[in-house]
Amino acid sequence: MRSITILLPSYNEAEQLPKTIARIPKHIPCHYDYRLLFVDDGSTDDSWKVLTHAAAKDPHIQAIRFSRNFGKEAAIVAGLLEAEGDAVIVMDCDLQHPPRYIPELLSYWEKGYQVVEAVKEARQSEGRFKRWAAKTYYNIFRELTGLDLSNASDFKLLDRQVVEIWRQMPERANFFRAQSAWVGFKHKSFNFQVDERTTGESRWSTTKLTRLAVDSITGFSAKPLLWISGLGAIFMVFFLVMAIISLVQKFSGTAADGFTTVILLQLLIGGSTLFSLGLLGIYLERIFAEVKGRPRYIVSDRLGDGIKHDSTQRLDSRETD
Ligand code: UDP
Ligand code: MG
Repeated sequence: MRSITILLPSYNEAEQLPKTIARIPKHIPCHYDYRLLFVDDGSTDDSWKVLTHAAAKDPHIQAIRFSRNFGKEAAIVAGLLEAEGDAVIVMDCDLQHPPRYIPELLSYWEKGYQVVEAVKEARQSEGRFKRWAAKTYYNIFRELTGLDLSNASDFKLLDRQVVEIWRQMPERANFFRAQSAWVGFKHKSFNFQVDERTTGESRWSTTKLTRLAVDSITGFSAKPLLWISGLGAIFMVFFLVMAIISLVQKFSGTAADGFTTVILLQLLIGGSTLFSLGLLGIYLERIFAEVKGRPRYIVSDRLGDGIKHDSTQRLDSRETD
């Protein structure tokens, strides 16, 4: 019998969890052994209590709890490092990634695809600005990295072989969508309709989203750093032209009243210097985070049998506990 693990990052979803626990197993074909692996991302509500009760009754339920909120990406990493089974399905625990698509994910996997991705068909209830921002971000990301993530979602099945490769990616700043595109392998995607959230609200603030966008771009491409040299080169040409014009005017006695030009030049140079420094700072911060080598998350509690005990991250985390 093949076994699968459904990986569910969850943050303050106490109200939602019982529904999710009841609903998902109904959609798993009965010839699979399964586990529901919840990663409680430092919830401040009753999530852990709900999970403890559920795990006491149902041996299919496993859970790990973070010592604080480390973010969804960290939760996915933790889940992938812990997950057993021949395949792992990652999905949101608010059921916006509808469990009715699980059989479809599994059927492609049975056909030999090792990364099966469910792609959002329509972004319901999202404002115009959010859609525009998402589109612009994906365009920039594609230009810089060559990876097309437009309309990608975190609703994915990964074969065991891919999960093992994943374990060899030690970087601190993770971006699940892009990393699962980067690893390659036999890949299949199909469209799905996003369901509405039935409880609570989106846990993503604009700040968190912006942070993720910057992290993901700088994590996958160093091209923005090259822009600085490009910017410098353009300025050099511009300055050379300006210098020649100024000298000619000076010697021909027609030198213009240059106040506006000086102010504009100062603003331009000051602005671009600060921007470039900021960009360097972002990369420096990333290097700093990697060099520190702190664990990507800290596990404070565990529930359920069969949770792996051999992952490096786990050892890391234990040292810090
Ligand atoms: N989530 C998480 N940690 C966070 C934020 C969100 O584990 O810091 C989980 C959340 O519980 C949910 C999934 O990630 O299962 C997607 O979050 P949400 O529904 O808020 O995002 P959206 O659907 O708006 O993309
Ligand atoms: Mg959601």
